[in-house]
Amino acid sequence: MDTMDADVLIIGAGPAGSVAARMLKLLGRRVVVLEKERFPRFSIGESLLPQCMEFLEQAEMLEPVTAEGFQFKNGAAFSHAGKLTEFDFTEKFTPGWGTTYQVPRGRFDQILANSAEQAGVPIHYQHSIVAADFDTPGRARLTSVDKNGGQRDWTASMVLDASGFGRVLPRLLDLETPSSLAPRRALFTHIEDKIAVDNYDRNKILIAIHPKFHEVWYWLIPFSNGRSSLGVVMPQGFTDDRTGDPLQILREIVMEEPRLAELLSNSNFDTPTNQIGGYSANVKQLQGQGFVLLGNAGEFLDPVFSSGVSIALKSASLAVPLVDRQLQGQEVDWQVEYEQTLRQGIEVFRAYVDAWYAGSFQRIIFEQRQLANIKAMISAILAGYAWDRTNPLTQRCAQKIEAIADLCPPL
Ligand code: FAD
Repeated sequence: MDTMDADVLIIGAGPAGSVAARMLKLLGRRVVVLEKERFPRFSIGESLLPQCMEFLEQAEMLEPVTAEGFQFKNGAAFSHAGKLTEFDFTEKFTPGWGTTYQVPRGRFDQILANSAEQAGVPIHYQHSIVAADFDTPGRARLTSVDKNGGQRDWTASMVLDASGFGRVLPRLLDLETPSSLAPRRALFTHIEDKIAVDNYDRNKILIAIHPKFHEVWYWLIPFSNGRSSLGVVMPQGFTDDRTGDPLQILREIVMEEPRLAELLSNSNFDTPTNQIGGYSANVKQLQGQGFVLLGNAGEFLDPVFSSGVSIALKSASLAVPLVDRQLQGQEVDWQVEYEQTLRQGIEVFRAYVDAWYAGSFQRIIFEQRQLANIKAMISAILAGYAWDRTNPLTQRCAQKIEAIADLCPPL
C-alpha cells in the first residue's frame, strides 16, 4: 500500500477545509485534502454571515466568490403572527463587513475548493478517511478508501479534521459528547419561489416563527436565480400525527405561517424534500496530539442564526497560524490559544440559541421600541461577530438577555 507524506492533512473540502488548505498553502506548507464526495455535492447551510467575509479575505478567496453573482445579503428579517422586524447588518456595533451572500452550497463549496487547488493544494475527491493513528508524536497517519475500494495511507505532522457532519476524528478517537441542546429536526427543500410581493426584501434571510408553537421556526433564503431555500426546524416528533409525504408535510406547516403563506402562494414546489435530525453535537476536546477539529467536526449548535459556516471559517483562521508556528518548532498552547478562543464565541451563540428557544430572545427581536445601541449590538452578533469582546452583549450574555427581555412585551 502506498504512503503519501505532507506537512498537513485535511479531512474534508467543505468551507473549513478549503479555507484552511489555501491559508496554509499561502504560508508555504505542503497540504493535502482528502474529500469523501465528488464535487459539486449538496450541502445545507446557505445563508452566510458578514463575519465570513473577513476569513475569505484572509485566504484571498473573495474574488471568485464575489464574481459568481450570488444573492447579496445585508441582514435578517423576522416574522411572527403578523409582526415583522428587520436587522440591517450594516448598522452593527462591531466594525467590519456588514454584507455577504446567500449561496447554493454545492456551487459555493466548489468555488472555495477550486481556489485551494489553484493555489497548489491537491484535493483527492472520493477518498474517505476510515482510520487514524496518532500514537507516534509528530507523525500522524490516516487511511483512506477510494471509490474503487483502494486503500492508501497518508502521513503528516498535523491533521485538521474538517469533515463536518462526517465527524471523522470524533468518532474514531471516541471524542463525542452530547450537545447541551435538545435534539431537533429540519425538513427542507429548494423552490422556484415566484415571489411577487411588494414589501419583500430578497437581500435578507427571513426567519418566521410558527403562530402557535414558538419552538417551530422556518427559514426562507432567496438565491439570485429566482429560487429559494425553504426549511422548517421543529422538535423531534412534531409531525408524528401529520399524514402525507415529506413535501406535503413541509408545505402544510409552511402554509400555517401567514407571512410565508402570502409570499409563497404562487411558488412551485418542484424539488423533493430532505431532512436532517439530531444535528447538534459536541466533543470532549477540540484538539489533541497531532490533530485539531475545525468547524462542524467539533461543536455544532443550531441553525437558527446561520452561524455554522462563520464558526467553521473562524476555526480555520485560528488554527492555521498555530499549525504554522508548531511546524516551525515553536510551542503552541492549543488548549488556550485555539480551544478556549474558539469556544468563547461558540458560548455567545449558545446563549442566544438557548434564549431563542426559551422565547426571551424572540421577545427582544420583536420589541419595536428597541434602543438603537442595543439593536446595533444584537445586529453585530447576528452578523457573526460573536468574538468581539468590546460588544457588551458578548459577555454575561444569558443574564443580559433575560434583563432586556424582562422589559419587552410577551410574543
Ligand atoms: P461541511 O460543510 O459539512 O464539510 C465537510 C466535508 O467533509 C464534506 O464535503 C464531506 O463530504 C467531507 N467528509 C465527511 N466525512 C468524510 C470522510 N470520512 N473522509 C473525507 N471527507 C469527509 N450554516 C450557515 O452558516 N448558514 C446557514 O444558513 C445554515 N443552515 C443550516 C441548516 C441546518 C438544518 C443545519 C443542520 C445546518 C445549517 N448550517 C448553516 C450549518 C452548516 O451546514 C455547517 O455548519 C457548515 O457546513 C460546516 O462547514 P464545515 O466545513 O465544518 O463542514
